[in-house]
Order: sequence, then structure tokens, then C-alpha cells
Amino acid sequence: MQLTPRQKAILDIVKKEGPITGEQIAERLNLTRATLRPDMAILTMSGMLEARPRVGYFHSGKKPGRVLAEKLHRIQVGEVKSVPVVVPEKCTVYDAVVTMFIEDVGTLFVVREGGLLEGIISRKDLLKTTLGGQDIHKLPVGVIMTRMPNIIYAEPDESVLEAARKLISHEVDALPVVRAVKGQDGSTGYEVIGRFSKTNITRLFVELGEGDY
Ligand code: ADP
Repeated sequence: MQLTPRQKAILDIVKKEGPITGEQIAERLNLTRATLRPDMAILTMSGMLEARPRVGYFHSGKKPGRVLAEKLHRIQVGEVKSVPVVVPEKCTVYDAVVTMFIEDVGTLFVVREGGLLEGIISRKDLLKTTLGGQDIHKLPVGVIMTRMPNIIYAEPDESVLEAARKLISHEVDALPVVRAVKGQDGSTGYEVIGRFSKTNITRLFVELGEGDY
């Protein structure tokens, strides 16, 4: 992060004299507090300065990159996930295409009763089917989907960084966000409670850039 000469001067003052109030920093620089406000906002947002009410500013000793990395470890999938769009296994390929358009998503999750994860369908899975010459009004998505246990998923308390790594390493666009549940026969099922996609990461990226997160 490139600091302006004025921001560097503020950092030097706070390093030497902190904790110090905004008023005192403005005095040292012969400027008004209003003039300094945007600089103070940038320095606190980046994590280089910390502000404590009634105490003033002090130097955190953190580099901006480190602050961002800490945030990405701390923000959980559950905080940024979207609503999942699910279809049953019997849903036809035609209806799956329509659902993708209506819901404006690129990945559908296939669930059985109780919302338990069975499979996943992507745009290309559907496109591929259209090349095969099968009747898309009759073919159920269960025949073409990627099936459990081959589905990569995320859990709500996992960090966004960890989930983003899964998207990259498995080369997929979205992960179902699931909660493990025990079935009556003792087997483990995965209830779909959300969707974590590249769009969630892009949105978070913008919010971090704008200092909103
Ligand atoms: P597309 O290539 O259609 O844009 P993806 O890259 O997400 O979309 O999907 C590629 C393939 O991986 C598809 O066959 C899809 O069924 C499968 N797939 C998508 N998401 C997952 C996931 N989370 N876990 C396992 N397989 C997935």
C-alpha cells in the first residue's frame, strides 16, 4: 500500500507520541482535524493505526497485507454464503435449465427428502447433455449430476480463505454449504444450508476494498 507523504508523517507522529488524539496530530502538522480526516480513515481502515475512544490513536505495528490476511482467516463461510438453489433428483434437464435462468445461478444442488445433498449440476453438465441427443424433457438430472461422495463442500464455520482454496484446487465454481446430520439408520447426511461461489468472494473482495468489512 502506497502512503502519501502526509500519511507517512502522521504514522511517524503516532509512532513517537502515541497514544495521541486527532486534535494533537492536527496541531503538530499545522492542519485542521477536518483536513486530516480522510487520512486518519485510511490509516485506521488499513489497520496500521488503531483508535481507542478517549485515549487516541496508537500504532498497531501491523503491515496492511497482514491485516487483510487476518481478516480472510477470520471471516467465515456462514457470514457471506448465499441462499442455495436446490432441485430433486427427478427434476428433468429441461427444468434444471429453466431453474438456472429463473434463479440466476450457475450451479444447482440436487437434494433428497429433508434437504440432504445428493448431487450437483453445473452449466457445462447441462450443455454436455444437449450434445448427446437425449430428450431433455424426459432425462432426470440424477443421471448426469456429479454425485456424493465426490462433492466438495464447505461448512459454515470454515474460513472463506479455506473455502476459496477448495474452489481453486478442485476447479469448481461453487460449493454447497452443509451441516452434517445423523440419519435414523446412523449414517451421516449433509443438509444443504447455503451456497458459496466465486460471486461471494468477488462481493467480499469489493467490500474489503471499500473498507466495509
Ligand atoms: P462449469 O465448468 O460448468 O462452469 P464447474 O467448474 O463448477 O462449472 O463444474 C465442473 C464440473 O465439476 C461439473 O461436472 C460439475 O458437476 C462438477 N462440480 C461442480 N461443483 C462441484 C463441487 N462443489 N464438488 C464436486 N464437483 C463439482
